[in-house]
Amino acid sequence: MAEHDELHTDRPHPARVYDYLLGGKDNFAADREAAHRGLEANPDSRIPPRENRLFLRRAVRFLAEQGMDQFLDIGTGIPSAPNVHHVAQAINPRSRIVYVDNDPIVLAHARALLTGDPRGRTDYVDADLRDVDAILEAAASQGALDLNRPVGLLLIAILHFIGDEDEPGKIVERLLAALPPGSYLALSHLTGDFRPEAWAQVAEIYRRQGVTMRVRSKPEIERFFTGLEMVDPGLQVVPAWRPDLGDPTEPAPSDAQVSVYGAVARK
Ligand code: SAH
Repeated sequence: MAEHDELHTDRPHPARVYDYLLGGKDNFAADREAAHRGLEANPDSRIPPRENRLFLRRAVRFLAEQGMDQFLDIGTGIPSAPNVHHVAQAINPRSRIVYVDNDPIVLAHARALLTGDPRGRTDYVDADLRDVDAILEAAASQGALDLNRPVGLLLIAILHFIGDEDEPGKIVERLLAALPPGSYLALSHLTGDFRPEAWAQVAEIYRRQGVTMRVRSKPEIERFFTGLEMVDPGLQVVPAWRPDLGDPTEPAPSDAQVSVYGAVARK
């Protein structure tokens, strides 16, 4: 078995820690331990995943309502219904989604992601965000996505796992360069703006386990949208991005508890 294919259940993986914080069952002792150490540093650690997931759904619904019928979702995570294809295909059953993740456990669950409407299409690509060419090639192969037509690019809660040395800004730029005008970027990202010490501790817990986590400031996150046209209300702490009265946000969490910024912008 190639190293990449091993689940490495002895150390925490972001997808499984995230799954645990969301109340999922696809995680191991090392993941739960990391989650609990994170909860000690920041007792509100379950709030960012929950609010982020609600943002993901609102953003995808918004994009589908703008007529987007193709989505490239990089950093898919362990399936947590409703997933992107459920939301998009509820509006347009012909929607096509390409899911991308580099975690073998997400790959192991990919079949659960590929249950879309037969009028549309869902594909799964096992690739690393840093390998932009491989992602674009796979996304366009066998007609999964038509890169000559607008695409909704989703980078939801993934870029904080990319350190500055990997130049995340360039990665976003290269992905967008391959998509035609009229495409959209929906992005969310953890921030240390409100509780710098707590998030530095969380990042340190990950770092000691060999996982890069780089929380970023609002201006740093805004830079990922350079050259794009921001959709109202711009970059916000996610509950403030086009809030939905149906979201279970009682009691409303504070910006510090959420600590995730998100926005949608158009090329
Ligand atoms: N987008 C989902 C899941 C976020 S968790 C949501 O918002 O609910 C972050 C996901 O990004 C994890 O599944 C992790 O495996 C994936 N990920 C982290 N770094 C990655 C990389 N370099 N390439 C591809 N996927 C990555």
